[in-house]
Amino acid sequence: MIPYGRQSISQEDIEAVTAVLQSDFLTQGPQVPLFESSIAAITQSSYAIAGNSATSMLHVACLALGVTEGDIVWTSPVSFVASANCSLYCGATIDFVDIDPATANMCPEALAIKLSMASKTNKLPKVIIAVHMAGHSCDMEKIAALAGQYGINVIEDAAHGIGGHYLASPLGSCKYSDITIFSFHPVKIITTGEGGVATTNNPDLAKAMSLSCSHGITKNKADMENSNEGDWFYEQQSLGYNYRMTDMQAALGCSQLKLLSHVVAVRNRLAERYQNLLNDSDIKVVIPLEGSVSAYHLLLVQLPDKCDRKSIFNAMRKAGIGVHVHYIPIHLQPYYQELGFKKGSFHNAEKYYQSCLTLPLFPNLTFEQQDYICNTLKELVC
Ligand SMILES: *Cc1c(COP(=O)(O)O)cnc(C)c1O
Repeated sequence: MIPYGRQSISQEDIEAVTAVLQSDFLTQGPQVPLFESSIAAITQSSYAIAGNSATSMLHVACLALGVTEGDIVWTSPVSFVASANCSLYCGATIDFVDIDPATANMCPEALAIKLSMASKTNKLPKVIIAVHMAGHSCDMEKIAALAGQYGINVIEDAAHGIGGHYLASPLGSCKYSDITIFSFHPVKIITTGEGGVATTNNPDLAKAMSLSCSHGITKNKADMENSNEGDWFYEQQSLGYNYRMTDMQAALGCSQLKLLSHVVAVRNRLAERYQNLLNDSDIKVVIPLEGSVSAYHLLLVQLPDKCDRKSIFNAMRKAGIGVHVHYIPIHLQPYYQELGFKKGSFHNAEKYYQSCLTLPLFPNLTFEQQDYICNTLKELVC
């Protein structure tokens, strides 16, 4: 089976992790700060905080922004469930903003309408989580302007997006947001096994997220509330978690980062080739906004309306092609249905879901495999 995504691990990666295993520190050593500063440099952000997953970092990002009981958070229904779950961890209420079917990202026009209605009923969200689906940036200028108008904080869920750009800025620069989150799960662009990073330009948010990742404990003398009793001294200043990244993971991350721009370039070349191969069909490739460069975590297509997605999915799998579906709209999950969300409430998201299909895309995908995938799909669609 040709998988829909696959990590690439080099000999150099293996040696980087092995070196940590032979060193003094398996965790809380020098590799984590090294990985953090590398991410800050690549994303042109002031601070990067590493943790054990993007899910954990979404949680600490919400906490740092003060999300708590009684608050409302909005995100896109077309995302992985973690984009919404993070607000529920904080005791807040979640709601969704429908997508633009052309981009599969949060629709700024739908956001504007929903905000205007919410301001009249006093139900404005505290935080908007914009998800860069497939690595294709949301229209952040518009989203940031709307959020600013109402005094709402913005988190970018860039789990798919490391190495991508929006206008003149790398994803993670936080030029249009308070915090950006990246995932380093093996299916994403580059990997640390499990892992996530939050970037921000705000020192207070950086400090709060860093504390939350490690029990709420600081060992930094300058940050102590009480007088320092000695070199053993530490303070727990908030209720935190153990969301730390290990040095083994960070070493893998540092090594993988060296190939990031190459990986993103290869993914873009393959994505462009997909577009050319499918150009003579009714299959629409979901492409990034003009002026942005996607990391292309996923190659998303929309099948023509006449197609039965399920039978095409099954036939592709039978042909050895590991197609996938991203995503089942979050509000249709049983857990969210129990929270009161109804089918039919986010029309574009549900329509998108009916006809979306994810085609294999990873750096080692060959032209031959790609030709086979496109020919098989076109035959099934005609
Ligand atoms: C993968 C993913 C996450 C969660 O990432 P983990 O590192 O696996 O916790 C969050 N949001 C989106 C959009 C994702 O695709």
